[in-house]
Amino acid sequence: MSDPKLLAPVIQSVTDRAQTLYALPAVQAALADIKRDEKLTLSDQIAITEVEAPPFHEKNRGLNMMERFKALGLTEVSMDPEGNVIAVRRGAGDGPVLVLAAHQDTVFPAGTDVKVREENGVLHAPGISDDARGLAVILQVLRTLQEEKIQTVGDIYFVCTVGEEGNGDLRGSKYLFHKSGLPIDGFISIDGVDIHRVLSAATGSKRYRVHFDGPGGHSWKNFGTPSAIHAMGRAIAKISEVQPCGDPRTTFTCGTISGGTTVNSIAAHCEMELDMRSAGAAELDEIEAQILPLIEAACREENARWGAEGEAVVKLRLEPIGHRPGGQQADTTSVLQASRAAMAVLGIELKKYDVASTDHNIAINCGVPATTLGGGGAEGNNHNIQEWYDPTDGYLGPQLALMAALLLTGVQGVTEPVLEKRARGQA
Ligand SMILES: [Zn+2]
Repeated sequence: MSDPKLLAPVIQSVTDRAQTLYALPAVQAALADIKRDEKLTLSDQIAITEVEAPPFHEKNRGLNMMERFKALGLTEVSMDPEGNVIAVRRGAGDGPVLVLAAHQDTVFPAGTDVKVREENGVLHAPGISDDARGLAVILQVLRTLQEEKIQTVGDIYFVCTVGEEGNGDLRGSKYLFHKSGLPIDGFISIDGVDIHRVLSAATGSKRYRVHFDGPGGHSWKNFGTPSAIHAMGRAIAKISEVQPCGDPRTTFTCGTISGGTTVNSIAAHCEMELDMRSAGAAELDEIEAQILPLIEAACREENARWGAEGEAVVKLRLEPIGHRPGGQQADTTSVLQASRAAMAVLGIELKKYDVASTDHNIAINCGVPATTLGGGGAEGNNHNIQEWYDPTDGYLGPQLALMAALLLTGVQGVTEPVLEKRARGQA
């Protein structure tokens, strides 16, 4: 994370456009509508939460979102083959295309009780914040644009992605940028609630499930047989000593281990899950190139320790279970500039200028200017059934998303888009 106070000021022409838009009566009315509609946004959020969206099974929620976009007057509403919902609000013509996205999926398995419970104004339910808040925010931005009949220059694609969490491995976002063929010039994801935070770069990650398999045997009778668990122990010991690059920040962990059968057995099988992350793409490849050979060496050492050969050895299998490409972008990138300028006119202080892994990873990796902004309010216990959402001052989330979107796509007859059209035909 870099200190926001050390950032160069927002480019003057972007600040000028933000101030022009902020002074526009239609925009003032739109901001007031958002505040007035706070309860409405919240009731959307509750209703969306109560439509289950387990990993790889987001369809019901997707269909529900499609109906909501249609009810707000959009006609180009579709679900792509991966499950992403795309609702298009056309601009005046020939402008850039901005995607305003939130993710449909939760981390909770099918059958989880998703009924929302309110207690002293705080909402409790699995997924109430992550990312039902984001979905409700993009709906509110659309509702407001429709009500005030604001004509943008560029198009806004409201996109509800699938597979953002965990083993979903950003499959929705990957489809959007690698396969859909949609002409996307900029990308904003609404995820998390902190309106004081702008994500400027994407943490890349590579994940493996590492399987160790050997002959196993009785701990007394077969002593002298290499052990799958001992091999894995050696591997973890070596990995623990790795010194990763500090800038860009690079990390690793063996997140889970399992295996063995009984206390008096030489383990025939065990496995661990390995997570490696970096804010730099090259550094991610480097840490992987450093760690994987250590695991192989550990396995060889365990076999050599007992002089095992042929079928008597512990063997290794690396199963890739995730690859989220990362990347960085210049602070002068349009989407970052527009987000900061929008915050400034709304009186929202930029407190965190940060790096994380979300749907924006794929955009940044493809060279599309992108960020993730917070949906407003407060949250806690995410990815846990105790998840809660506190709507206090939540309206600032949709206000920020609206201002950033208007700046980037421009308002017909008032401001030019800050977002630049990218060369078509480049994904
Ligand atoms: Zn999320």
